Amino acid sequence: IDSDTSDEAVRATCDDATICKRFASSKSYWKDPYIQYFVRSVGERKAPEINRGYYARVQGVNHLLDAFLRKTHCDCQVINLGAGLDTTFWRLKDENLMPRKFFEVDFPTVVARKIHNIKTKPPLSKPLIETHSTDSLLLDAHSLDSDRYCIIGADLRDISNLDEKLKKFQLNPELPTLLLSECVLVYMTPSQSSNVVHWAAETFPTAMFVNYEQVNMSDRFGQVMIENLRRRQCNLAGVEACQSLDTQRERFLKTGWEQSDALDMMTVYSMLPQDDVARIERLEFLDERELLQQLLQHYSICWATKDKLKLGLSQLAF
Ligand code: SAM
Repeated sequence: IDSDTSDEAVRATCDDATICKRFASSKSYWKDPYIQYFVRSVGERKAPEINRGYYARVQGVNHLLDAFLRKTHCDCQVINLGAGLDTTFWRLKDENLMPRKFFEVDFPTVVARKIHNIKTKPPLSKPLIETHSTDSLLLDAHSLDSDRYCIIGADLRDISNLDEKLKKFQLNPELPTLLLSECVLVYMTPSQSSNVVHWAAETFPTAMFVNYEQVNMSDRFGQVMIENLRRRQCNLAGVEACQSLDTQRERFLKTGWEQSDALDMMTVYSMLPQDDVARIERLEFLDERELLQQLLQHYSICWATKDKLKLGLSQLAF
């Protein structure tokens, strides 16, 4: 597979994520009133275990993100790496949990699509305008910069370019910073993803990194998952780093992070608020509980902290 083809396949993964999130939210697994503006139709039915998997992913990531925002009293910034068409900025605005500034990074072509949607859909653009104080809102085809929300087109494998662009848009390294990568690092080689994680540790003295991706990929079920992705020509350069929860944690501990934890998503699922889990389990009948368990055991959330300001970030957990 040549590298342009596989990069294009990687860019297409953001549609998969958005389509699955759109479907699950249309079934009331969680509320997302904004995702409809990024994918028009609800699309074909997804299996209940897929919907539950996305539920665990979205609730799990939101849990750590919201805990960080509360701990820092929103006096912080968030950087979503490989954000795709994610709608978290709008959720945080509605929930009064907006950080000082919310940054997103993705390939320029993905960013251009996202910006086009924002420009042409008032429910998306209104919150940006409302949270912006001057009339100098920058909005061109490849970047958007307002007071509280910024989208940057950049390749995460080119760290110096990434760093330069973020600084150009008033990134403040001294501010407590949450970095998020949701199904992103797996598309890079282990050394490229280590560079990202290392850059983050070097740049931000007070920070938390939350990474969601595949884990336990060396067993048979994992091999089938890899085969399915390869068939779609995706470059899974990073699966080596997804061997185990320990390899997930080590990536952070080896690159300057003070502490790191990782859980598989079956464990996360069992630690989410159980009244809401009971609610979503009533939404659709699932006869093969074992398949759900297998699936959730092959995804993980790993998080790491550095805490120069001694805010107590190492306490953030499930
Ligand atoms: N994080 C979003 C979510 O969970 O809904 C999107 C996930 S999607 C599976 C992976 C995203 O990472 C895509 O939007 C892709 O373009 C982006 N991505 C992968 N490698 C990248 C790179 N080297 N530079 C910038 N973005 C990248």
